[in-house]
Amino acid sequence: MAKKQGSKYKRVLLKLSGEALQGELSFGHCGKTLDRIAREITEVLAMGVELALVVGGGNLYRGVTGAAQGMDRATADYCGMLATVINGLVLQDAMERHHIKTRVQSALELHQVAEPYIRRRAMRHLEKNRAVIFAAGTGNPFFTTDTAASLRAREIGADVILKATKVDGVYDKDPARHKNAKRFDRLGYIEVINKGLQVMDATAISLCMESQIPIVVFDLTVPGNIVRAVRGDDIGTVVGGSK
Ligand code: UDP
Repeated sequence: MAKKQGSKYKRVLLKLSGEALQGELSFGHCGKTLDRIAREITEVLAMGVELALVVGGGNLYRGVTGAAQGMDRATADYCGMLATVINGLVLQDAMERHHIKTRVQSALELHQVAEPYIRRRAMRHLEKNRAVIFAAGTGNPFFTTDTAASLRAREIGADVILKATKVDGVYDKDPARHKNAKRFDRLGYIEVINKGLQVMDATAISLCMESQIPIVVFDLTVPGNIVRAVRGDDIGTVVGGSK
């Protein structure tokens, strides 16, 4: 598994939130955004990088929303996980239209639509330069797809988690509401937890800390940023990591 042209990493886990797929829309999927993401992924794969993705589901459904309306939280979370499977299939379709060999692996068994999550099979796909989309989170309620990203990154031995967001890194306060918000270039895992910074939930951060997997938080809305993040350009905040 040789590192190739211009990439800082050999094996990358890209975390896309559900919102990342909705672009400027308030719900669902934006065709143009999906197309752009797929195009950038083509470039990443052409660099020889092995790419796994974890998709969220927040553009369609979140467990907390259902629970706030009186639903049983576990049931609502299963609905959330199913939403991530829909996103996985939509993303796979967008990628395949760009001739990217893509497999969706689901943490919940859904034989007709996706492979089950099998770690060794996922690794084999990656070695064969197929992109692998991990759907249905961890397969357990009360978790998030950020935790799924940390878990899968660790399982497959990813060199980095690239966390795509709508802002160019981690700030000490919400930059949309505070003009004097300060962006961090680098942060330690403990610092993120102690300061309660909105990077990932504490479970996800702890998992990354144990394996020293760095997390790069970057702005997906800027065209070309997935490729820049894979190259290791200075475009966001780097959390932890010794790699
Ligand atoms: N979810 C879950 N277990 C997991 C991952 C996700 O129960 O391991 C559910 C949870 O209800 C969550 C929803 O799936 O609200 C969508 O995931 P998430 O909120 O992490 O998506 P994102 O914010 O990344 O779009």
